[in-house]
Parts: sequence; structure tokens; C-alpha cells
Amino acid sequence: MTNGEHCGAILTIDLDAIAANYRLLRGKLAGANCAAVVKADAYGLGVGQVAPALAAVGCKTFFVALVDEAIALRQHLGQADIHVFNGLAPGSETAFAQHRLTPVLNSLAEIEAWSLFSKVSERPLAADIHIDTGISRLGLPPEELDILAAEPQRLDNIQVDIVMSHLACADEPDHPLNRQQLDAFRKARRIAAAARRASLANSSAIFLGPDYHFDLVRPGAALYGVGPLPGKSNPMAQVVSLQGKILQIRDIDTPQTVGYGATHSVARRQRIATVAAGYADGFLRSLSNRGNGYVGDIRVPIVGRVSMDLVAFDVSNLPVEAVKPGAVVDLIGPHNPIDRVAAEAETIGYEILTNLGGRYHRVYLDESASGSGA
Ligand SMILES: *Cc1c(COP(=O)(O)O)cnc(C)c1O
Repeated sequence: MTNGEHCGAILTIDLDAIAANYRLLRGKLAGANCAAVVKADAYGLGVGQVAPALAAVGCKTFFVALVDEAIALRQHLGQADIHVFNGLAPGSETAFAQHRLTPVLNSLAEIEAWSLFSKVSERPLAADIHIDTGISRLGLPPEELDILAAEPQRLDNIQVDIVMSHLACADEPDHPLNRQQLDAFRKARRIAAAARRASLANSSAIFLGPDYHFDLVRPGAALYGVGPLPGKSNPMAQVVSLQGKILQIRDIDTPQTVGYGATHSVARRQRIATVAAGYADGFLRSLSNRGNGYVGDIRVPIVGRVSMDLVAFDVSNLPVEAVKPGAVVDLIGPHNPIDRVAAEAETIGYEILTNLGGRYHRVYLDESASGSGA
């Protein structure tokens, strides 16, 4: 990796803020433990940096979506307890055993495959059981649950660690499905009565209160600064900031248009700053003519379409000396945090994070680990 002097934009990831967010969430729990979801490269922030930072503040249980993500995570965390949401892909059993990974079993077929593998291994191997209580995505559907209830011996060779389910509407506290899923989970978890732990809550569900906490909560997004309570103030510390460098300034003083499709017209005078970030970096095209950057405290609207490598801002309101090539515009920052950018792009913070591009120069802030602060 380069030192970033030639980069177009600088992505700063505050590992101390992630640690603070972990502590904040853990502080909301009475008896439960707090795991961390680090799928999709820790929501785009870099699992190699993020997972050890979480382990350093006491996180012991980690979830990813894919076996390959789990194998990669194992390289960073020798001891942690690593679980794989997407379950047991056919033929993946030995990879789970070899890397000491725990599959989340999502169907009777997966339970059968793991049970067989366990038998051959001559010891009961740990696995989680995922029950679908109403999201209709992954997990045992009601008809498979009935079969399992009638034939509990299907779990005989399996050491059930976590019995889990997942809420569809946790970010809408008043949605009736939350209660319904809670009630369904309370009943269904009896199927795996021998399970070591029960788990229901993602980030937002932690804020639904202690009924939803069980033994283990599974936050992802809130750790990375996404607001768990849409429409309410965000209790989480901001983790990500993104600064794009100005490449060129254009003073327009005759009627002109800006960018592809000529979607922004300048009638009289405008000063345009073109910045080195675009949709190839995950700076979404839906921000065209809608999003905002900031130079210090001054808002600078995006004008015209976001293109692959470039985005233009109207910097007419700034003093001439404040906007020079090489100066930076905050694309994500204190005035335009993740959730604001997401709203402007008509998406959610999760999608902004997981699209953060590979061309950004990444800087990790980690005062507690570096010690020197230099
Ligand atoms: C991604 C995921 C989570 C984490 O959800 P957040 O909303 O990011 O906190 C928890 N559980 C399951 C099953 C998931 O797929």
C-alpha cells in the first residue's frame, strides 16, 4: 500500500470509536453477552483491523456470512469463537472442523449433514440452530420445526451452542412483528432445549429492551456508527470519515451545464470544484444533484451527475482561497454522517458502508493500541 500522497480520497476508520460503540452496546445488557457481526469485511471497514480491535475490548464471539470469511477471520483471531450465518454449504464440513468454525444450521438437511459428520468424527461437534420466526429468509421454517419437535433425536450427535432467530423489523420499535417473533422464538427455542445460549437481537433489537437480549446479542451496523433507531438521534460514535481531494476548480460565468447528461445548468455564475471520488468508489450515483459535501462547516451541494471517478460540488459560497486543487471536501464527516449520506442517496447506512471503495487511501485510528499517538 502507498502512503496515500497520490490518492484521490482518504477514508479514515476510527477503531477507538468501534471499541466505544461495543462498550456502549454491552452497557445496555444486564445478563447477556455481546458478540460482533463482522461479515462483508466488517461492513466494508476491514475485518483484519476491526476484529482484533473488538477482541481487544473483550468480544469473544464473532459472526460472518460465509465460510471463506470465517477462514480469513481465523487468521486474525486464533482463539475467538467464529460462527457462519449462511450455514453448511455442501462439502464444507471439513473446512469447518479444520478451522474450528461453528456452522449456523438453517434447515433439517443441514442438521442431518452435520449430524453425520459429527458421527464420523466420533465426537459431538458444536453447531447453532437458526429458527425462522417470521423473516422467511434463512432458518428452519415452521414445518421443519414441527418435524424436529417430533423427532428430537435428530440433534443427538450435535452439541447445540446457539439457538437463534432474526427479526425483520427491529428498526421499527412499534412494528407488531417484533412481539410476534419474540413470542414465536420463546416457544420454538424449546426444540433445542439443550442449547448453551439463545440469541435474537441485532443492533436495533438491542434497543427494544431486555426481553430481546436472551444470552447473546449480535450487533453489526451499530458498531460501525449506523444509527440503530432510524428517525431518532444516533447514540453511536461516528466511525467513518471520507475526504475527497479537489482536482480542479472551474469558474463558470456564461450559461453552461455540468457533467454527463447536462443535468445541472449554471445560469449566471458558479464556482465548481471537481473531486476525485465517484461511483466506482461506492460514492453512489443516486447522490447526483442531491448529496452534499462540506468544506469545514460550509455545505457544498453536489451538482450534476456523479460519474465513475469524479463528483462536482458548487463551492461558490466559499472564499476563493479555501478551495484550491489538493484541498479536501468532506464526503462523509461530522456534518454529513453515514446516515445522512444514505438518506440523500435513498438507501441505508449499511449500503454506504459496504460499498466503500478499494481505491480510497485507508487510515486506521487506534490510539489505544499504538500508545504513542504519533
Ligand atoms: C447481519 C446480521 C446481523 C447484524 O445485523 P445489524 O443490523 O447489522 O446489527 C445479526 N444477525 C443476522 C442473522 C444477520 O444476518
